[in-house]
Amino acid sequence: GTINFTVLTLFPELVDPFFEHGIISRAVDKNIITGKSVNIRDFSSDRHNTVDDRPYGGGCGMLMKPEPLALAINAAKQGSADSRVILMTPQGRRFDQGLALDLAARSEDLIFVCGRYEGIDERVCHTLVDDEISIGDYVMTGGELAAMVIIDAITRLLPGVLGGETSADVDSFRDDRLEHAQFTRPPAFESMDVPSVLLSGDHGAIERWRKRSSLKRTLLNRPDLLAKRALDGEERKILKT
Ligand code: SAM
Repeated sequence: GTINFTVLTLFPELVDPFFEHGIISRAVDKNIITGKSVNIRDFSSDRHNTVDDRPYGGGCGMLMKPEPLALAINAAKQGSADSRVILMTPQGRRFDQGLALDLAARSEDLIFVCGRYEGIDERVCHTLVDDEISIGDYVMTGGELAAMVIIDAITRLLPGVLGGETSADVDSFRDDRLEHAQFTRPPAFESMDVPSVLLSGDHGAIERWRKRSSLKRTLLNRPDLLAKRALDGEERKILKT
């Protein structure tokens, strides 16, 4: 079925164009996903459309009030038979390719809650949020970019989104490694040649070159990925030659 993404935000105009470009818009056209934003401010009840207030106990900054958020979340849930409410927060579990695969496989509708200011009232987390996700150990001004990061990474994993020739199976982070170096025409560029093996037509040799390139890059840039597991026999052989 279709996965429906709903982004609850104070800045819908930031999110809407995301669904209108490139592979994401193609996934929308193919009805593999739908994407929409909902303005949390539409659920505020006073005449100033207030969505924030000062934190109890003092301190700097403002917090998002619980009532408009709760109404917005409940309205979004009404529209779905099977949904998961995910709060964007630097304090959540950290997003990675494994989590993207996991969420893609569940095929639930996903409702993203984007914070602004200093975040949201804790009671909303306790009652209405199913999951809390961070996109990395840094603090941004809002959750919108985080929601788009997660939607993007999930969508390209859904069946039918990428063409067969650009399969996600060979991308970085499958099997805890980075993808090999890549080249396209021309064969010589600023006196740098494409590795001759890639022009040889010898598929076995190309495959070995790619494995080696992949392993080398992972060791250089992300040794932490390889530290998660033992190298297999082929990888050991590549490193010894
Ligand atoms: N006071 C909060 C804290 O220290 O945990 C940070 C609030 S941040 C300035 C405002 C909003 O941006 C958060 O509510 C969250 O929705 C979003 N945000 C910021 N950094 C994020 C990250 N690394 N991952 C996901 N969302 C993030």
